[in-house]
Amino acid sequence: MKFGFDIDDTLIQLREHAFRLYNAKLNRNVEIERFNELTTVPIHELFGLTAEEGGRMWNSLRDEIYYTDCPPFPSAVEALQELVRQGHEVYYITARAPEHCERTREWIEKAGFPVEEGRFYCGMGDAEKVHIIRKLGLDYYFDDKPAVLDTLSDLSLQVYVRDNSYNRHLDIPRITSWDELLEIVKNHPAEG
Ligand SMILES: [Mg+2]
Repeated sequence: MKFGFDIDDTLIQLREHAFRLYNAKLNRNVEIERFNELTTVPIHELFGLTAEEGGRMWNSLRDEIYYTDCPPFPSAVEALQELVRQGHEVYYITARAPEHCERTREWIEKAGFPVEEGRFYCGMGDAEKVHIIRKLGLDYYFDDKPAVLDTLSDLSLQVYVRDNSYNRHLDIPRITSWDELLEIVKNHPAEG
């Protein structure tokens, strides 16, 4: 079967990594509990920044956020490796900007994720992911972002939301730990 994955905050803990960098750079000590309760994807409001200031902060730290030691979610690397071992196809679909695609691909490979030729899609907008997902004929797709997941309701594949504090209002199947992935595959094979 074909499995598609968003990367940021689906497979890797990018916002939390950025949160820790913001705390360090701004010499603040915002508590992780507040991060864990945040109902927005952007994190700037935790630091009293406006959206514009937050955007500038993110852009100024972007290389450090993307390419240092952002941790994958527990078991994500192992679960995807196991899918490949079982003969499934693993696709990545990330809306990171085009200029970051090459380095992002290298980074996720280095982090241990299995990346095969022609299965890494990058540089599209959130609203364009649906076209790639449809074209690839995926059986499963996993993402964290409401703006993306809201575009997928007409597709016949199995869509899962990777649980995060800002997506709990979504009423679709949810995965809270990558330990659950292989059970899902085993118990609920996709149609066709
Ligand atoms: Mg994401």
